[in-house]
Amino acid sequence: MAKASIVSIGNELLNGHTTDTNATYICRQLLSVGVPVVSVYAVGDDISKIVEALKRAAADGDIVIATGGLGPTDDDLTRQAFAELLKTELILDERLLEGIRELFKRRGWSMPERNRVQACIPKGAEAIENPIGTAPGILAKTKGRILFALPGVPAEMKMMVENSVLPYLRKQGSSEWTVIKKVRCFGAGESAIAEKLGDLMRRGRNPLVNCTVDTGVISLHVIATAKDKQQAEVMAERDIEQLRAILGELVYGEDDQTMAEAVGRELARQRKTVATAESCTGGLVAKLITDIAGSSDYFVGGWVTYSNKAKVERLGVSQELIDKYGAVSEQVAAAMATAAKRIAGSDFAIAITGIAGPGGGTEQKPVGLVYVGVSSDNDCQTERLMLSGSREMIRMRAALSALNMLRLKLRG
Ligand code: ATP
Repeated sequence: MAKASIVSIGNELLNGHTTDTNATYICRQLLSVGVPVVSVYAVGDDISKIVEALKRAAADGDIVIATGGLGPTDDDLTRQAFAELLKTELILDERLLEGIRELFKRRGWSMPERNRVQACIPKGAEAIENPIGTAPGILAKTKGRILFALPGVPAEMKMMVENSVLPYLRKQGSSEWTVIKKVRCFGAGESAIAEKLGDLMRRGRNPLVNCTVDTGVISLHVIATAKDKQQAEVMAERDIEQLRAILGELVYGEDDQTMAEAVGRELARQRKTVATAESCTGGLVAKLITDIAGSSDYFVGGWVTYSNKAKVERLGVSQELIDKYGAVSEQVAAAMATAAKRIAGSDFAIAITGIAGPGGGTEQKPVGLVYVGVSSDNDCQTERLMLSGSREMIRMRAALSALNMLRLKLRG
């Protein structure tokens, strides 16, 4: 099976200004045509470092994809680095030069002399058409390796990967296909899930089941490799069925589905509505719900009752209740949820009250203590959460936990 290595070029990748999203994108795309990426190198605009990285990449993989450094300025050195690696010279391609001139003309400008350099490619290499930018890409072959140079601009790079790199690799006839599917879970930790899955997560297994975690959401990546796409898909689906059977209600969705999407879909299916009353999350639950197009079908509206006064005046929570139990309490969460449901006239209401920090915690009520209430026609369920992390993490985790409570309620 062919393997690939990526070289991301540009000082901006090393000084913290740009995240290397190009490499992430290329990794995904190559895997989809059965070419796993085995290494990613990031280098600055330094010719010797670029050549060194290209050599390392060529030692790691049969295919090398470099991005960045194809612009017209002095710090764009990828062309020269390719020429040096191939032990050849750069030659001006008149046809490419004409194409670049044309592009400027279409934009109503005349081509600056500086851009001539973009029409140069190493002798013996091929140019890759760039339909939306001035920098053509490069395709070169050396010592059994295939090397691509693509522009750093993500939109240009993506278009050239789709139009040129992937068709080229497909034509090379990859002997294997890889399909990746995701299962999204919430409500248990990574190790608890790994324990439940046992042998399914064994390294070296096909499909391979990998796990990533983000704010309490566990994503299980099912990576199936087979001779053809259909077979890989069948293998992935079979594993997903197994994962669903083992994990049960912990699974809320697949692929890139969000918790709010899963809840919204179920509310719409059951023709039910929801309202929100939020304190420490400041409207985050309402935001997550309304991020989904079509949420007006099931989201009535919400309150951000941050102060005690707002809880009393807007929702009618009793001052005595707040004085007796405190604003961050199971009783106030329940009162907020019950009031929101009644005033909004919805089928369900979600309420959240807690201490997101970093200040404001006490020994009895520390930072991270959050109460969630979910009211329905039958009851009002509450949950006490003890969350850790930054203010942002506590708020997001609280919002997702509240949505998850509603999801479980909708499951019945
Ligand atoms: P240009 O013609 O614009 O000079 P280039 O091929 O020289 O193209 P760069 O100058 O290296 O590309 O980068 C252009 C833009 O693309 C910059 O805004 C940069 O932040 C972005 N970029 C470059 N490399 C990456 C990367 N690996 N991931 C995400 N963005 C990137």
